[in-house]
Amino acid sequence: MVPGPHMQQPAALPSRDIWTAARRGDVDLLRVLIEEEKNDINQGDEDGSTPLHWAAYFDRLEAITYLLQRGANIDALNEKEAQTPLHWACIGKSLPSMLLLIKEGADITKSDKRGYDCLVHACQYGNVLMAHNLIVKQGLSVAHRDTEGHTPLHWAAYQNHESVARLLISLGADVRSVDDEGLTPMHWASLKGHFQMVQFLILNGGDVHAVDSDGYTPLDLAKQKNMKNTVSLLKYSQGYTSQSEARNWRTWFLMPWLLVPLLFFIIDTLPFLATVAVLAAIFIFIRRLISYMWLGKDTNNPFFMSVMAAAYALSTWVYFIKIFPVTNEYGMLTMFFVGVNFMWASLFLYLVRSDPGFLKLDEAGVEKIYNKLSLGAKKIPQLCPTCMIARPIRSKHCRSCNRCVARMDHHCAWLNNCVGVNNHQPFMVLLTLVILLHWIFAFFCVQLLGSLDGAPSIWAVHSAIHFYYSQEAMLLMLMLFHLFNALWEMYVFYQQWTLIFDNVTANEYLNGTKYPYFRDRENRFRNPFDKGWKGNLKDFLHPTLDYTDLFEAPDTHDSA
Ligand SMILES: [Zn+2]
Ligand SMILES: [Zn+2]
Repeated sequence: MVPGPHMQQPAALPSRDIWTAARRGDVDLLRVLIEEEKNDINQGDEDGSTPLHWAAYFDRLEAITYLLQRGANIDALNEKEAQTPLHWACIGKSLPSMLLLIKEGADITKSDKRGYDCLVHACQYGNVLMAHNLIVKQGLSVAHRDTEGHTPLHWAAYQNHESVARLLISLGADVRSVDDEGLTPMHWASLKGHFQMVQFLILNGGDVHAVDSDGYTPLDLAKQKNMKNTVSLLKYSQGYTSQSEARNWRTWFLMPWLLVPLLFFIIDTLPFLATVAVLAAIFIFIRRLISYMWLGKDTNNPFFMSVMAAAYALSTWVYFIKIFPVTNEYGMLTMFFVGVNFMWASLFLYLVRSDPGFLKLDEAGVEKIYNKLSLGAKKIPQLCPTCMIARPIRSKHCRSCNRCVARMDHHCAWLNNCVGVNNHQPFMVLLTLVILLHWIFAFFCVQLLGSLDGAPSIWAVHSAIHFYYSQEAMLLMLMLFHLFNALWEMYVFYQQWTLIFDNVTANEYLNGTKYPYFRDRENRFRNPFDKGWKGNLKDFLHPTLDYTDLFEAPDTHDSA
């Protein structure tokens, strides 16, 4: 367990004392207590924490300024943890207070009883910007060690703060560093079963074979703690190195071009039972391969994009050799179908390579945050430690694309690209076209199957399936394939439009409560971007805000 300021319950404290007054930022009461009632300004509470500790923890800038003016000890140590007010500002994620205390001369180099310096505290509590400031502006070392030899990266891994881990590694932290017991950050993440963190550490050069002083690897620790997902990740990444990433990418890209034709060839030529057996074997093989060659969701993988393209190519081929020659009575529909096909294929190729609204990498981006801070802004933008930019709200760093995307909707596996503010509209057009394509293709298949000589009524389900399968297995399968795809894509279509009419992105829909701009002062959900369905549609077609630059959520408190 990570020690913090061992906070008393508010009820356990009398309401009128210097610590409570400092915690509330009540400068008037502090004045009365200190100047009139002559309370000792440096007096500790039961843990020895002074009023300055409490003011720093709760980010009460005015109270801090007042206490310092009245002679509070800026580096006072509390008895229990030997922590300074500066440590408490870090633990409380109070960046403005931290900066104020440093400006007023607080000792930045101090470590507490457990050897945690300010940076370790910032990393334990997952504050990226604070950690950035402490390393880049204040010169604290990413290689600092606490009394048990843990580095800041150990703590970020243990507490599952991926952004902090990304920052530390980009600023030179050693991903393979070991603590006094020989444990690496990956051991710590595995112990807690932090799947994504383990994946991140593997991708960034972490050693899956590292053994601690007791001879245990990260895999052993994950097994001991029964962390199933992490166990399988570690098991199958034993042969993984960051060099194999490029080779794997090529394999995933090329595989569907063999696989899709092979599948349909098997369906078309082998009898039913043999087909089932061969397909099952292929399925098991692919599953094995996935486990060995793919570190899982959120790493870049072109497999589905290639499946899409290969299935499309195969369908087009089947259309020209089988369907086109016998569907001349549907002249208009055929023309429409060919037109839609052409548009779909062009749009698909465009979207695969389109810029979804990647935020510009900007050397001075971080300075924007510090400017805002120095102006006393309360809403401070997030720092993306990979792109090193001040991230506007509604944007998100995509792990697959490894870039920040403005008004990010989702990462589309079928495009192997993100859908964001720049390409959301063409994406919706693509979705519409592909649904049309599926229905028309399925319709043609039905017509062709129905025109076969000796076809039984489709209501005689069993004999109908048997008949069609023996005559035109490929067409039957393609029809089912297109119907199935049409159905789930219609579901996506419905969901997308629902969200567009609500002015919520898919990412916000999934993680909404995580984002402070979706909460009102009473912590209830509210959508500051909602302008009614007409306004929301307008914002989708013509965004009124520049989502690629820093902006503030419209304030809806007063209008509500
Ligand atoms: Zn980013
Ligand atoms: Zn992406």
